[in-house]
Amino acid sequence: MGPPGAGKGTQAAVISAMLGVPHISTGDIFRANVSQGTPLGVEAKRYMDAGEYVPDGVTNAMVRDRLSHDDCRPGFLLDGYPRTVEQVGELNAMLSSAQHRLDAVLELTVDMDEVVGRLVKRASEQGRSDDTEDVIRRRLEVYFEQTAPLIDMYRSQDLLVQVDGLGIIEDVTGRIVAALSLEA
Ligand code: AMP
Repeated sequence: MGPPGAGKGTQAAVISAMLGVPHISTGDIFRANVSQGTPLGVEAKRYMDAGEYVPDGVTNAMVRDRLSHDDCRPGFLLDGYPRTVEQVGELNAMLSSAQHRLDAVLELTVDMDEVVGRLVKRASEQGRSDDTEDVIRRRLEVYFEQTAPLIDMYRSQDLLVQVDGLGIIEDVTGRIVAALSLEA
């Protein structure tokens, strides 16, 4: 967890490779559908381009489908999901029916000025259509309204692990590895 620009995608890719489990990024799956022009992509794009969340029903069905694949049986790393209270409820249902449980919920904490700077930089490097200034502002608002409250929920369940997301990629990875006790 963490606001847009916290480095979730970058770190999730590294950590999932270390753990040997699939990296399931709802944002990446939506973007792949957008670029392939699937009906899901057409629907998701409207929300993504406005900085809004894709409706829970659509997102939950997509995650449910992805988690049913064989490669998820030994475990998986979710990136960008759950983001709403309703998604938490759905995820809990999916986990219990698959006899899985969450090992940890990782939050990357970042300074807001740093996040906005990263997003502006990513906009110029990657040309993401949801990285324009107005949309960036809206995405941050939506995060604080809808997703930040989940952090307290996971803290009260003793699942939350907070890591400082500032600094170079390798340093952040090192902190995550230490915090999750992933050293060999
Ligand atoms: P991300 O790459 O994780 O920042 O996601 C990019 C965009 O995809 C978000 O701004 C949302 O529009 C959409 N999205 C990704 N994950 C979710 C989710 N769990 N729930 C709703 N919308 C999502």
